[in-house]
Amino acid sequence: MIESVEFVTVQCPDCGPALVALEAVNLRINRESDRASMAFPCMICGIRTSLPVSAHSVITLRKAGIEPVYWTYPREIFERQLEPREPFPALSVGGLMRELEFDIDSFLRSG
Ligand SMILES: [Zn+2]
Repeated sequence: MIESVEFVTVQCPDCGPALVALEAVNLRINRESDRASMAFPCMICGIRTSLPVSAHSVITLRKAGIEPVYWTYPREIFERQLEPREPFPALSVGGLMRELEFDIDSFLRSG
């Protein structure tokens, strides 16, 4: 089938079927949902497209030599509300800034 080819045919929303180099294709699989998507730059218009792909397409892409990247949602999304905020440096105004939710790091960097 498509073993040992260096290009795959993809569907660009603007250009329709287009060839793209295998090495430019990113295959991403979400561990939680098992949903897969592929991202590729169109060789005709240059626009990067990300499309959901079926399990069958994942098998085909893997046979073509593309290693999927497995990803999960960042843990911070779930932990942000549970973990205490990082303590501020010991400054006399620290307590006040904490009250005001002041971003002291960017304040110090800009100052
Ligand atoms: Zn295109």
